[in-house]
Amino acid sequence: MLQLSLGKSEIGLVFLDTNLQEEQMTYTKTLSFDMDGTITDLSFAESVWLEGIPRLYALKKGLTFKEARKHVKDEYDKVGREQLEWYDLTYWCKKFGLEFSPKELLISFENRIKVFPEVKDVLEEYRNKGYRLIIVSNARREFVNLQLERTEIEHYFERVFSSTSDFNLTKKTVKVYQQVSKIINVSPSEMIHVGDDLLFDFIIPRKLGIKSFYLDRTGEKSGESIIHNLKELIVTL
Ligand SMILES: [Mg+2]
Repeated sequence: MLQLSLGKSEIGLVFLDTNLQEEQMTYTKTLSFDMDGTITDLSFAESVWLEGIPRLYALKKGLTFKEARKHVKDEYDKVGREQLEWYDLTYWCKKFGLEFSPKELLISFENRIKVFPEVKDVLEEYRNKGYRLIIVSNARREFVNLQLERTEIEHYFERVFSSTSDFNLTKKTVKVYQQVSKIINVSPSEMIHVGDDLLFDFIIPRKLGIKSFYLDRTGEKSGESIIHNLKELIVTL
């Protein structure tokens, strides 16, 4: 990895560097990203949950879209985002008695999948610095994969984890990050995680000793380890 990122003339310089040991150590670092709200904006997920499902439910029950949306939202809230069901289209399909293929529903909104403007530059920069890039998302595998495919950023990531599909857990528990650290064979102290959820992406990974950044894209909060877009990682790391 070290050699691949350097031109031929630079390799010689690095071998003369007395800090080589230290340089190599930095290359074991892993930079982990949340997906929705961090890499991709929320319009795709919100379209599926707050437009697609309510529309189908309205049709099924003869309700207005507004009525259906309220009902659906109330039901989501009863479950809550810390439960596995929250993320599971098949569960909601059964719950609301809807006959559709989750895959078709996702594909019907794929044109709304968008990465935030700075994402590619930041991924490119950290990949060139030799960081291993991974994703640790609560979203189910089908959401994550489709978003990665449509935005053509999949190749940046060495591993992509869906906590709900892969571990049957949400990121409310340190177990997710423990599993990830074990699988990629990197200690939590060599990991950095960034995401837009205060609990899932900041409080929980920090409990395990993962250096974490809370991404507040609204710009309302500020402080140590709080960033407002991914470009700011360059300044704080
Ligand atoms: Mg998120």
